[in-house]
Amino acid sequence: MTILRIDKSGWNQGLDRTRRTYALVGPTAEGEVPGFRELKDGEYPAMDGRQTRLSPKGVVFPASQVMMTCSFKEGDPKKDMYESVEIDTRPRAVVAIRPNDAKALQLVRLNFDTDEFRDPYVVAAYGACTWIGLAVNAPSATDFSTSCGTGPFDESCLDVMLVDDGDHYLARVLTDKGAAWAACAGFETEAGDGAEALLASKKEAAEKAITSSLSFDRIQDKTVLDLHGAAHWDQTTFACLNCGTCTYACPTCWCFDIQDEVHGDTGYRMRNWDSCMTSLFTRHGSGHNPRETPMQRTRQRFMHKLKYFPEKYGQGIMCVGCGRCIDQCPAGIDIREVCATMNAKA
Ligand code: SF4
Ligand code: SF4
Repeated sequence: MTILRIDKSGWNQGLDRTRRTYALVGPTAEGEVPGFRELKDGEYPAMDGRQTRLSPKGVVFPASQVMMTCSFKEGDPKKDMYESVEIDTRPRAVVAIRPNDAKALQLVRLNFDTDEFRDPYVVAAYGACTWIGLAVNAPSATDFSTSCGTGPFDESCLDVMLVDDGDHYLARVLTDKGAAWAACAGFETEAGDGAEALLASKKEAAEKAITSSLSFDRIQDKTVLDLHGAAHWDQTTFACLNCGTCTYACPTCWCFDIQDEVHGDTGYRMRNWDSCMTSLFTRHGSGHNPRETPMQRTRQRFMHKLKYFPEKYGQGIMCVGCGRCIDQCPAGIDIREVCATMNAKA
């Protein structure tokens, strides 16, 4: 696989060349709520390597999305008929995504693209994207990605991997999609001898800097009923406020709700992110709620990520170790501690 050298002095110019072909999506610059969005002409992705507070999940699964519209206009021959909106299939270059966030979006896709159900919105958005990752040279103290089948230099879900090396990036082109993006940007200077070894040493240093190491082996050996009925849950979940911050920040959480809204004489069928942490999420029309208490809802979140998901999909846990839920939880709940408790010897 080719390794290119991209001088930072020519980086923005290269991105500008790609705008003719791709919508540019990336982490927003300092001063804004850090997240990913489409960047207008003259805007460039923040390349400082910091983790965005909101994950890039919204690139394929927006927080709020119109799926269908309906006219209520008198005399309209299509009055009262819901119709799908046109799906956005423009090619998008998602730049500076962290490798484990890219992995997370593949986990999200699993839920929306199955043999039984295929969500056209998520599948189309995912397929339209070229993923230009930025390796994490300096992982944070709450990063435990290497325990989750990914890591700061994981290339498995990327088309190009960028590595910051001072005044330039080393860019490993991983797929045909990545090669097309690099050609479009005019990035074609091959890195010299020694680039491979340099990437390997940076990868090793980044992975060594991650000090959290988790195990999930016993969780998979325990039964659902044993884990569900374990005595620790009241204690483990005691501080949780059910605020939902962890679920909205998480790159792998995919709960949503569908609601109809009417504005003027047009109806909109919206899909909005929801959270298993809220009591309304599972309240039935009858008033019965199978997850009535805060403990039940918090337990659900950890059981889903660490037990139900691995059992259903056989693709590891539903967590990429980004640490956002640890950094942002107002109650100090740490998934690493909960995991260790769940994984403890019976
Ligand atoms: S675990 Fe923390 S962030 Fe998540 S809902 Fe509870 S209090 Fe909020
Ligand atoms: S560390 Fe927390 S926020 Fe990050 S993927 Fe895992 S559960 Fe989600």
